[in-house]
Amino acid sequence: MKIVLEDILKGKSRIALGGHIRPDGDCVGSCLGLYMYLKEQYPGISTDVYLETIPEAYRIIRCTDEVKTAVTEGDAYDLFICLDCGDVKRLGFSEPLFEQAKETLCVDHHISNGAFADHNYIVPDASSTSELVFTLLDREKISKRTAEALYMGIAHDTGVFQYSCTSPETMEIAAALMRKGIDGNEIIDKSYYEKTYVQNQILGRALLESMLILDKRCIVSVVREKEMEFFQAAPSDLEGIVSQLRQTKGVEVAMFLHELSPQKFKVSLRSKGKVDVSRIAAYFGGGGHVRAAGVTMKGSSYDVINNISGQILHQLDHSKEENVREGEPADQEHSSEEE
Ligand code: 5GP
Ligand code: MN
Repeated sequence: MKIVLEDILKGKSRIALGGHIRPDGDCVGSCLGLYMYLKEQYPGISTDVYLETIPEAYRIIRCTDEVKTAVTEGDAYDLFICLDCGDVKRLGFSEPLFEQAKETLCVDHHISNGAFADHNYIVPDASSTSELVFTLLDREKISKRTAEALYMGIAHDTGVFQYSCTSPETMEIAAALMRKGIDGNEIIDKSYYEKTYVQNQILGRALLESMLILDKRCIVSVVREKEMEFFQAAPSDLEGIVSQLRQTKGVEVAMFLHELSPQKFKVSLRSKGKVDVSRIAAYFGGGGHVRAAGVTMKGSSYDVINNISGQILHQLDHSKEENVREGEPADQEHSSEEE
């Protein structure tokens, strides 16, 4: 069912927006883009946006200083809009606001999304949630600062218009955003490519310590709490490491483990296409996209690597059997790559 934003907003006086824990470029871009649009176009509606602390690189977007990082007691919102969240639990601290809201809307592009809101606008083929937000807005009314936020979100989730989720529509939307007078180069450079010294150091460490497994078809790296302490790195400093691991020639899947606490790891998975990593993440309680997914797992790093690599091997062997049966390479699934 087509979502008409105007209809959903009718009669609402208080709205909250929320995105996923450890917000990434698309999460920040879609939340702030929609937030600024609502503020500008619906001044009669009181709108708040809830996100965990926004990493420094995304603060080039306007209004990030207005984001609420904690929930205070108060009346329930008339509407809660959940953006870029495949699962209600991924809202983190703002989940109670979603639960208490009189009405809810979910805008997302995760294949693992189970349509948990009252209204759901979920398009797994879309490059990004920011692209979906654009399609909900009246393009004539999009301001430059909203365009900057959405452009950043699209650029991030497409790996700067490179991944297979980048469709002709994505490029048309990016073009429409550029026509708002934004400095696209600066947004990409400052929010995507520029790395702090610490970020580069920890990336170097992860690459240096990486291992090839499964007959060199999978690359694995682990960053532990003590290394995070040593480099004085924050979890957001690890962004991009798994994508760099995936660039390795010959590998099908990259697996990156970040130790959250003893015996607890945040696992990031990236695939070149043969392996559906969202299925693997979902099997262990996580989710994501065919080519980019994540999950938090308990146990030693060896247990986590063994359990996940077992599932990767299962899919690789299965795709080999299919190739033999059909006498040609298996089709690569069209999919969203990133968040
Ligand atoms: P990342 O590896 O960058 O954290 O996440 C890759 C993709 O998987 C993102 O789209 C992210 O939203 C999703 N993802 C990561 N971790 C989890 C998780 O624990 N649960 C679910 N449902 N999705 C996740
Ligand atoms: Mn996304």
